[in-house]
Amino acid sequence: MANLPVMGDVGGVTEELAGGGRTNGEAKAPAVRHEDAPRPVANVLSRFKPGPRSIWAGVPDALWNDWHWQQRERVIRLEQLERVLRVTPEEREAAVKTEAEFHMGITPYYAALMDPEDPTCPIRLQSVPTMGELNILASDLEDPLAEERDMPVPGITHRYPDRVLFYTTHNCPVYCRHCTRKRKVSDPTSAAAKRQIEESLAYIAQHTEIRDVVISGGDPLSLSDDRLDHILGRLRAIPHVEIFRLGTRNLVTLPQRVTDDFVYMLRRHHPVYVNTHFNHPKECTAEAFEAARRLADAGCVIGNQMVLLKGVNDDPAVVKELNHKLLLMRIRPYYIYQCDLARGISHFRTPVEAGIRIIEALRGHTSGLAVPQFVVDAPNGGGKIPVNPEYVVSHEGKRWVLRNFAGKQFEYVEP
Ligand SMILES: *Cc1c(COP(=O)(O)O)cnc(C)c1O
Ligand code: SF4
Repeated sequence: MANLPVMGDVGGVTEELAGGGRTNGEAKAPAVRHEDAPRPVANVLSRFKPGPRSIWAGVPDALWNDWHWQQRERVIRLEQLERVLRVTPEEREAAVKTEAEFHMGITPYYAALMDPEDPTCPIRLQSVPTMGELNILASDLEDPLAEERDMPVPGITHRYPDRVLFYTTHNCPVYCRHCTRKRKVSDPTSAAAKRQIEESLAYIAQHTEIRDVVISGGDPLSLSDDRLDHILGRLRAIPHVEIFRLGTRNLVTLPQRVTDDFVYMLRRHHPVYVNTHFNHPKECTAEAFEAARRLADAGCVIGNQMVLLKGVNDDPAVVKELNHKLLLMRIRPYYIYQCDLARGISHFRTPVEAGIRIIEALRGHTSGLAVPQFVVDAPNGGGKIPVNPEYVVSHEGKRWVLRNFAGKQFEYVEP
């Protein structure tokens, strides 16, 4: 997503962030003040604690809550990281050795969620480089999902009959160490230029079978509101495009990005689906809750795509707690992805069995709403393939022997 300028530039707001002219000539809608919206009930809200402030404790709220500030103050260098946490020798070596391959970038908000003393903290594992990234296996693939091969024009992956992936940027507020698009994300030279976006829009307009557009990257919320407004407006002007989805991790890594002005803009383009990427209950803070509340109150339908990561969430109890939290945030768990074969993420990969065990522990044991689909995105462009625990014990003609979540067998005979 789930995957800005230039991560190397200290604190610069990128051209993308700053840029993009309003093209429809409409007057800017008045901001809706969220204080005017009904407040969530206290016993729901009380389950979500504001994220800690760490070394930024003295920063005024107005700055902390300003996503431009969060973007500018990102932790991108080892010296900055050393101020936030006790960096281990291994992390220090990894930060230096991975720099050329995949930048480090962590918003103050997300960095403050890390345990400064514990290198196995799930937030830390997702955002601080480790030596495992340098361990490239023979089975690792440069383009594990063959996204480039199924690319009719640069910027579009068209694999399934009626929907496409549309890459709009290669920037993200936080560079996830497990990113499947490491080959491009964080690399300023591979960013989608205006011309590429035009060509992608032209492709979608020409292909009348496309009814669903997954707007991805990088993270499309790295674009300015005006630029996104323009792209969404152009998509809405294509008669055969029924829905689109914004694939964004900003709810997790930079929830301040979801402003009242932003969601007001989205309301002009409904139906808007948002697919986000929470991986651990620690990410479900009051700030994330507020971002989800604004999107849901604006009428967006939000889904979550978790990536199964060793040491982060390969534990049914963690996933259950995460999914319960997400439902309170009006986010529906949508997919759990098996970690793919991208280079430099082998240390995160679990056996496929781990995903099956998680679904087994959820289905029937808790709300069906909290049970996502576990999928393996097959190498070489096979697409997402669901993998389920086996509930069919045997099947012969009209006679099905099934087992339920508690392991009891039942027979169903087709009339
Ligand atoms: C994941 C993906 C989609 C969307 O798939 P859904 O199952 O509809 O969520 C579309 N195109 C590509 C190339 C994808 O990888
Ligand atoms: S770095 Fe993270 S947010 Fe950005 S595309 Fe990769 S997984 Fe998604």
